[in-house]
Amino acid sequence: MNRIYDGLPIVGQNAACTVAGMYRQYIRYRPIFHHRLAELQASMHLPLDEIHSLQWRRLERLVNRARKYVPHYKTLPAPSAASDGQVAIRETLDTIPVLRKETYRESSQNFVATDVPKREILRGKTSGTTGTALPLYSTKSTLAAEYATVWRLRSSHGVGIRDPHMTFNGQLIVPVKQVKPPYWRSNWSQHQVLFSIYHMTIRNREKYVDAIHSTKSVYVDGYPSALYQAAQMMLELGRPLEEGRLKAVFTSSESLLAYQREIIEEAFCAPVWDRYGTAEFAVSMTACEEKNLHVDMEYCIVEVDVVEETDDYVRGPLLVTGLANDVTPFLRYSIGDSGTRLKKPCPCGRVGDVFLDVDGRNDDFVVTPEGRRVGRLDHIFKDQRGLIEAQIRQEVSDSIDVLYVPGRHFDTGSESALRREIHSRLGESIHVRLLSVDAIPREANGKFRAVKSSVIWNSSEEIS
Ligand SMILES: [Zn+2]
Repeated sequence: MNRIYDGLPIVGQNAACTVAGMYRQYIRYRPIFHHRLAELQASMHLPLDEIHSLQWRRLERLVNRARKYVPHYKTLPAPSAASDGQVAIRETLDTIPVLRKETYRESSQNFVATDVPKREILRGKTSGTTGTALPLYSTKSTLAAEYATVWRLRSSHGVGIRDPHMTFNGQLIVPVKQVKPPYWRSNWSQHQVLFSIYHMTIRNREKYVDAIHSTKSVYVDGYPSALYQAAQMMLELGRPLEEGRLKAVFTSSESLLAYQREIIEEAFCAPVWDRYGTAEFAVSMTACEEKNLHVDMEYCIVEVDVVEETDDYVRGPLLVTGLANDVTPFLRYSIGDSGTRLKKPCPCGRVGDVFLDVDGRNDDFVVTPEGRRVGRLDHIFKDQRGLIEAQIRQEVSDSIDVLYVPGRHFDTGSESALRREIHSRLGESIHVRLLSVDAIPREANGKFRAVKSSVIWNSSEEIS
């Protein structure tokens, strides 16, 4: 398919992007989507006990259906009979074993509900940065619920489905071999300009910046790492977008790193709103003005398998229960990401479960020679203004390699500052090798990973 696409003239590729965009729109934005969105907008400001009752009704229905129609869940105990929603949720979840990815991978067919007609089942798979892709199943109703969470966030910032926009994600819309602009394609039906993230080199930056300035876009969406690269290009050329051009920047699919947000907001001259979701359609969190991530509680239940606790937060791997996937229910699914949940209500005023961050995959950590497991390492690079981008790689627990792309102002002083910052977080005993590179390679799906570690960490040890 891709080879056929690659052989088309650019106008043909634009037409193909338009057809693909129309199909996406047709699949995602059916009447049921608008119904789900209206429901979500209405429940946004409910008091917490009403949100818990709503969550409970959905969980109870899901567990009952799973017991009846999903082979893997045939032996699940009946849901709790407690009258209080929050208590009933707790009691019910306590009877359900944690679902590991491997269990789902080995027997995914056992998770497909037998009462959903085959013709209604939509098939997909995880993009998978490592390991094999997981087969995934959903229905129109699942997609409607998923995209309703996306658009509750977007519409609350004045953006509409038909608004012109730019997209920077991993789709291969420009043949990799192409060495002449344009490095973007158009989806005419949705006024969308899709930028290739695989051609963003220094040589091409003026073309990219010209193209960004020439769109009539109202918002931009994409991977944080790709938007960050585009933002760097604009700032290096002294050409940020003028204030008021864009209403918002929406990031998803990767952890939004602290240093990326600042530069993206400066260059696109609009606030960044992050969302955490996954291809399993089992979890959704959306950002508020406090830069925290609120769990979309109508859509999912998120538990934290606590490995660290302070007066302010609990932290650890996430266990997610999706309330909207009626064909493959994921109950207490260990999704592979970790997060930090606040114990106090968010200062923004929105009630319910709120996370300081979801700091990515469980293996996005460095293990120190002392056996400490340290995450959220993007903060090391936050104040290193001479740096463009960096990646930490670890193969053994007493050393790390830090690959970095130096900016124009990076000098020996910056190098010492970077070393100091690394040792202040990882301790003095770890051996650090700094390697200057022209670019940080992306994963096969175009995604950026801040930390790549192959060190196995013994979970009985301390986390920090
Ligand atoms: Zn908030």
